[in-house]
Amino acid sequence: MRIIPDIHDLRDDMKRWRRELHQYPQTSYQEVFASDFITEKLTMWGIPFERNLAKTGIVATITGQTNTSGKTLGLRADMDALDITEQTGLPHASRYPGKMHACGHDGHTAILLGTAHYLQKSRDFNGTVHLIFQPAEESGAGAVTLIKEGLFDRFPCDYVFALHNWPWLEAGKMGTRAGALMASSDEFTITITGKGGHAALPHKTIDPVIVAAQIIQSSQAIISRHINPLDQAVISMTNIRAGTGASNIIPDTAHISGTVRTFRQDLRPLIKKHLEQIVCHTAQAFGAQATCDYIFDYDVTVNSPEGVAQAIVAASDILGAKNVMADYEPTMGAEDFGAMLRVSPGAFVFLGQGVPSHPDSPHNAGLHTPGYDFNDDILPIGASYFARLVERYLTPTAQS
Ligand SMILES: [Zn+2]
Ligand SMILES: [Zn+2]
Repeated sequence: MRIIPDIHDLRDDMKRWRRELHQYPQTSYQEVFASDFITEKLTMWGIPFERNLAKTGIVATITGQTNTSGKTLGLRADMDALDITEQTGLPHASRYPGKMHACGHDGHTAILLGTAHYLQKSRDFNGTVHLIFQPAEESGAGAVTLIKEGLFDRFPCDYVFALHNWPWLEAGKMGTRAGALMASSDEFTITITGKGGHAALPHKTIDPVIVAAQIIQSSQAIISRHINPLDQAVISMTNIRAGTGASNIIPDTAHISGTVRTFRQDLRPLIKKHLEQIVCHTAQAFGAQATCDYIFDYDVTVNSPEGVAQAIVAASDILGAKNVMADYEPTMGAEDFGAMLRVSPGAFVFLGQGVPSHPDSPHNAGLHTPGYDFNDDILPIGASYFARLVERYLTPTAQS
């Protein structure tokens, strides 16, 4: 492990920042505490920034000692928390009831702050770095809002990079891959309208529950019959709502909602089309009516080959090549950073935070669970990785 010495010296500060951020978690577009916290630090360190981007977002810009290369790099951290009641019992646990940094975005913010502090002090690079503090990763597509507000027009980036702590990977290791690392995430709501009545007289009704059952069964054939078996896609119907609670009443309506995941952008409209067909025609076959409200939500997170190559070199500098996995297993989870990677090349990486030697450690708890806690030991690793990406791509001798 070769942590950058100045960042190693900053580890206690970063830990303090992270724990303070952890105590005041706020959800999508409400991250006022984090936003004020970040701008206070940036102001103190003399780093210029623009705030109120996508409501609570901030972009800080640091220029190297020289800026003749014309090169630019973007580093992104997310800031938002989740609607979860924390159960860690830790001294720095959430002070906001029902809200929790259960995905470690407090840690990501502290890492980018540590990187900012180091880069501003050293400025040992030739070019410009934009530090993007993004709101609303968990829901609300903060990355998309930033892009719509002109993020990459106002702050052009040759490449963008981001990381996510990963409890399933040991601290001191990093995993990534070229191509799709995380899936797209779309949502749908199906409403079936039949004709209710007495449960003992089904022939006088159009039972929407039967239609719902058929739709749930048939929709799995989209995956098994319409998708190339070599591609991956998931349809999960996660909510069914029908009936009054009475056992002797056939209801008028039934509702189903769920999610679609895939690693290929072009499969998303295909799945939507087939789902709509199944919903519409199944309802029709039973004399019912149905609608399918389908929302394209988060994009596939696709790493560019050059971005991954840079990530692997920088991570290997810090962690040693044997601790950097260049073909890490992708996950069907989704990440808002995918929207940025559709506009700009770059890479998303998983930064290990697990502690296998202590099975009960909160650092091993899954993301989005009430017993999870970010591992502060990886703060200097993340900041060193970001700093090294900058120093490698924007080498002081870099020319345009
Ligand atoms: Zn999350
Ligand atoms: Zn997250």
